[in-house]
Amino acid sequence: MDIIVQKFGGTSVATEELRKKVASKVVATKESGKNPIVVVSAIGRRGDKYATDTLVNMATSVYDGDNARDLDIIMSVGEIISSVILSNTIKAMGYEAQAVTGFQAGIITDNHFGDADVLKVDNKYLMDLLNKGIIPVVAGFQGVTETGEITTLGRGGSDTTAAILGEALQAKCVEIYTDVDGVMTADPRVVTKARVIDEIDYEEIYQMADEGAKVVHPRAVAVAKRSNIPMKVKNTLNESKGTIIIQKNHYLRKFRKSLEEDNVIRAIAHKNNISQVSVYFNDNMEDNDILMNNLTKFQVSIDLINFFTDKKVFTIDNKDLDKVKNIMGKNKFEYSIIENCSKVTAIGHKIRGIPGVMGKIVKALSHSGIKILQSSDSHTTISCLIKEEHIEKAVNALHAEFNLDK
Ligand code: ADP
Ligand code: MG
Repeated sequence: MDIIVQKFGGTSVATEELRKKVASKVVATKESGKNPIVVVSAIGRRGDKYATDTLVNMATSVYDGDNARDLDIIMSVGEIISSVILSNTIKAMGYEAQAVTGFQAGIITDNHFGDADVLKVDNKYLMDLLNKGIIPVVAGFQGVTETGEITTLGRGGSDTTAAILGEALQAKCVEIYTDVDGVMTADPRVVTKARVIDEIDYEEIYQMADEGAKVVHPRAVAVAKRSNIPMKVKNTLNESKGTIIIQKNHYLRKFRKSLEEDNVIRAIAHKNNISQVSVYFNDNMEDNDILMNNLTKFQVSIDLINFFTDKKVFTIDNKDLDKVKNIMGKNKFEYSIIENCSKVTAIGHKIRGIPGVMGKIVKALSHSGIKILQSSDSHTTISCLIKEEHIEKAVNALHAEFNLDK
C-alpha cells in the first residue's frame, strides 16, 4: 500500500476556500491510487477565533495557576476542530473521510505536558481506516500518555505528527504543505530575492530549522531522517514542485577545498529574541558549578557558549531573561546583558576550514555597518550574533554575498 502523509499548516486551512483547495489535493492523491493520511494544524493564526492561543487565553483568564495538564486538553482542541471541518470538506466532495484525534491515532507520548515526546505509535486504528478506503484526517500536535492523559507536542507539533505517522505507517513520503513554494534560501518575508531550493539534505534542513527557519520543525526532520522517508515541502496554493528533503551522499564527494566551488553556502537562517549574557568571575570550580547548576535547575537553555578565564559569555532566549536575572541577583554574580539580539546563520556542508567563508561574512556585515557581538561555527554552520535592529540588513547582505539570489 502506497501511503502518503500530507500535512497542512494553520494558514492552509484558514478559510473555506483554502480548505476546498486542501481537500482537492488530498482527493487527487487518492485518485492517483495512493492512500493519503492527512494531518492538520489548528485553523488560522494568533488572534483568530479558534486559534490555539485564543482558546488558551479563555482558560487562563479565569485561572492562571499551575495547570499544565488541563491546558494541554484545551490546546489540543484547535487541531481537533480543524480535523472535523476538513474531514467534512472531503466528504462533501464525495469521498470517505474520518476525523481522528491524536489519541485515536495511537500516538503515545511521555507526560511532559506542553512539549511531550512521542514514545511509540500504535498504527492499527489508521491501518484499519486505510484498509477500508477511508481517508484519515488526523489532528496534529497531540498525543496521549500511557495512562490516558492528553498531551501536546510543542512548537511545530503538527510537523512532528506528520513525520511520526510517516514512520509508523512506512509512508512513501511526508508532504508538508504551507504558504510558501518550498524551502527557500532565506525567509522570503525578509529576503525578497530568496529562491526555492529544489533538493536539500536532511542535515542541512535540520540546521536551517534549528537556526530559525520555521518552514519545517527540526524534530520532524530528525524523525524523517531516522526512518529515511523523503519529505517534501510544497505550497498549498499552487502546483509548484516544492523542495524534496532526502539523504544526499556528501560522504562520497570529495572534501571541498575552496570557496570557488558551487553552493558552499546553501541558505541563510535567522532567529530573533535572543539576549547575550556575560558573567564576570575568575575561573573557579565553585562559581562555575553555581552558574551551571542554576541554569540547569531553572531549565534555561544556553547557546553560543564561550568561557574565558575572567568571564563566561552565552546567549539565552528572551523568554528566559527574568529567570537569568534572578539567578544572577540571588547568587550575587557580577554580570551584564545585551538584550534585543538576533542570530544570523549561514548553512552549508563541510564548511569548517574552507578558507574565506568567515572572511566573506565579516566583510558583508561590516560593509553594512553591522557589528558582530559573537560568533560560532560547526561543520555545517557559521553563526553571528548581532543587534536585532540589523537583522533584515544582515540576512540580505549575507544572501547577496554568497550569490544565493542568482
Ligand atoms: P505553517 O502554518 O504552514 O506550519 P509556518 O509559518 O510554520 O507555516 O512556516 C512557513 C513560514 O516559514 C513561511 O511563511 C516563511 O515566512 C517562513 N520561513 C522562514 N524561513 C524560511 C525558509 N528558509 N524557507 C521557507 N520559508 C521560511
Ligand atoms: Mg509550521
